[in-house]
Amino acid sequence: MRIPVIAGNWKLFKTIAESLDLVNELKPLVAGNHGVEIVVAPVFTALSSINDAIKGSNISLAAQDCYWEEEGAFTGEVAPKLLKDVGCSHVIIGHSERRQYFGETDLTVNKKTKAAVSAGLKAIVCVGELLAERESEQTFSVIEKQIQGSLAGLAVEDFAHVIIAYEPVWAIGTGKTATDGQAQEVHAFIRKLITRLFNQSVADAVRILYGGSVKPDNVKGLMSQPDIDGALVGGASLKAETFAAIANFNV
Ligand code: PEP
Repeated sequence: MRIPVIAGNWKLFKTIAESLDLVNELKPLVAGNHGVEIVVAPVFTALSSINDAIKGSNISLAAQDCYWEEEGAFTGEVAPKLLKDVGCSHVIIGHSERRQYFGETDLTVNKKTKAAVSAGLKAIVCVGELLAERESEQTFSVIEKQIQGSLAGLAVEDFAHVIIAYEPVWAIGTGKTATDGQAQEVHAFIRKLITRLFNQSVADAVRILYGGSVKPDNVKGLMSQPDIDGALVGGASLKAETFAAIANFNV
């Protein structure tokens, strides 16, 4: 059985005080929901405060990125073990905004994923095609290349710490969600690919999240698909009420 994950990516939004307001409003709204892994990913500077605020709650903490080295002369970077140290259990890796604006490639995503997993973090590894790639019928080949590159060299046992997020780039922040069928088709493809690259039990167990304009009114349809195991939520995670409505899709 795959426990659903609903993760909120707060991107570059909110001060520490605003982040605390949001999480303090969110906590009671999701408190009764123990059937879902609920995760929030604030900016780095708010991680410590949010970690204090969620203690004893059913909300987990994620960072939005990490580096692959443990320490050294790498100005500006943050190592997975430091994310553990500040209270993170999860880290988002290879978000399309990182790939698009910060030069992330499947190779850097792969290094970060391995480093995160070996530090004991759950890596939420993002893949997704551009609109032009979908329109030219390259969706499956793009996803295959991204999955193969991003997860290369992982051992079967590493998958206890891997979550995949399928986020079609054309659906992120645009209000255009993939239809339930479009999302399911790619999720099923990814699960088959994981069977081929790793094995059936890894594929059966790995959570595959959908991301791209998930809102309270479309989450149920998406979550009713057999291969969709949760959501990575951007815009709608910035308000407690809408994120709670998404996280509580099951109640
Ligand atoms: C995201 O940033 O991962 C995302 C899916 O954003 P949005 O929900 O705003 O489309």
